[in-house]
Amino acid sequence: MRVFKFGGASVKNAESVKNLVKTIQKVGYKDTLIVISAMGKTTNSIEVVIDNYFNNKAALQSSIQEVRKFHNEILLDLFTSENHPVFNTINTLLDELNAFFKTNKSPDYNYVYDQTIGYGELVSTTIISAYFNQEGITNTWLDVREFIKTDNYYRRANVDWETTKNQISANFNANTLHITQGFIGSDANNFTTTLGREGSDYTAAIFAYCLNAESVTIWKDVPGVLNADPRYFENAQLLNKISYREAIELAFYGASVIHPKTLQPLQKKEIPLYVKSFLNPEAAGTVVSKGVDLEPNIPCFIVKKNQVLISLSSLDFSYIVEENISEIFSLLHLYKMKVGVIQNSAISFSVCIENNYDNLDKLLQHLKAKFRVVYNENVSLYTVRHSNEQVVSQLEKDKFVLLKQVTQATTQIVTK
Ligand code: ADP
Ligand code: ASP
Ligand code: MG
Repeated sequence: MRVFKFGGASVKNAESVKNLVKTIQKVGYKDTLIVISAMGKTTNSIEVVIDNYFNNKAALQSSIQEVRKFHNEILLDLFTSENHPVFNTINTLLDELNAFFKTNKSPDYNYVYDQTIGYGELVSTTIISAYFNQEGITNTWLDVREFIKTDNYYRRANVDWETTKNQISANFNANTLHITQGFIGSDANNFTTTLGREGSDYTAAIFAYCLNAESVTIWKDVPGVLNADPRYFENAQLLNKISYREAIELAFYGASVIHPKTLQPLQKKEIPLYVKSFLNPEAAGTVVSKGVDLEPNIPCFIVKKNQVLISLSSLDFSYIVEENISEIFSLLHLYKMKVGVIQNSAISFSVCIENNYDNLDKLLQHLKAKFRVVYNENVSLYTVRHSNEQVVSQLEKDKFVLLKQVTQATTQIVTK
C-alpha cells in the first residue's frame, strides 16, 4: 500500500485536477489510497460561511452561493455533459450544508464549524473520484468518517487509535484504488470532527500507520521541503533528506509544509514520507526517514506571521514561579493558543502565541486579573534551526527585535 495526499493547491481548479490525472498515470496507482483536501481556498470560503451564520446572517446565502459557483465552474470544465450524475451529487451535498444552517440549534461555534467545514473535502473528493472514473482510472470513493474515529474536541479532535485501527482493518480493502477526504473524522456519536487546519497530511499518516503502508507521499506546489518558505525567503534550497526527528522539530516550529502531527505515526513504524512536486512528479523531492539528520546540512528558516507576544509580570513584584506558570499554561490550553516561544525571568514571563481560535480577548481578560499584562499583536516569530551568527545577524538586519532566544541548535527571534 502507498498513501498519497494531494493538498488544496494541487486541486485548485479544473486544470490542476486534469494535471492530477497525469501525475497519477505517471507514478502509478496500484494499491494506492489517495487522500485529498478541499479545492484551493475552499476551507477559507466555508470559514466565511460559518462566520456569516454566527455574525452576519444577511450574507449567509451569498457566501454559500460562492462555494457552489466555484465548484460548478470546475464541474463544467471537467465533465462533458451536465447530465453527468456528479452535478446532482454535488448539488445535494451543498443543499445538505445549507439545510444544516437552517435547522441547527446548537450555539457552539466549534461544533457548528466541524459539522460544516468538511463539505470542502466531501465535494472535492466526489468531483475527483467521478473525474478519475470518467478518465478510466477506476476507483472507489470512501467516506473517511467511517474510518477515522476521534473524541469530540471539535476543531482539534484527537484520534481514537484503537477504534480507528479496528475500523480500517475490518472495512478497508487494500486491493483497489481508493479516494477519500483528509482533515475530517467522526466522534463516537458519528458527528463530524476535524483534525485541525491543514490536517490532511495527518489523515494520510493515520491511514499509513493503520495499513502498515510502504510510504506516504504528499504532493505539493514546491519541489519538496525547502530550508525556508519560498514565499518569504529568496533562494530557498531543497532538503534532500531529513530525519523524522529533524522534521518533527521543523514542523513544530511552524514549517507549514508538513502538518506537525503527521510525523509521529510514521516515525513509529518507520514509514518514509516523500514530499514531491505535482508539477514535476519524477523528481526525487524530499524524503523524511530514519537516518541522516539533514542533507544538505544547512540552516533552516521558519517564519510565523501574525503572532501575539504577551509579557506578564507580577502585580506585586513577587516571583513568577511554578504555580503561576502552570496557571498560565492552563489558560493557554483552555483558549487553544499555540505557543511558539517562552522566556521567563524572576518577575516576568513572555510567551509568543498564535491566536488561531479568536480567543485573545478572553485570554487577556483572564490574565489581567492576576498579572500586569503587556502585549503586541502582529509580530513575527522567526526560528532558525542549525543557526550560526552570520545568518542570524543577516536576518535581524532591518528588523526590530522584541525577544531573542538562543540555544545550541536553534535561534528564535520575535520581531515587530
Ligand atoms: P497543500 O496544498 O498541501 O495544502 P500548502 O499550501 O499547505 O500545501 O503547503 C505548500 C506551501 O508551503 C508552499 O507553497 C510554500 O509556500 C509553503 N512552505 C512553507 N514552508 C516551506 C518549506 N520549508 N518548504 C517548502 N514549502 C514551504
Ligand atoms: N482543507 C483543510 C485546510 O485547508 C485541510 C487541509 O488542506 O489539510 O485546512
Ligand atoms: Mg494546506
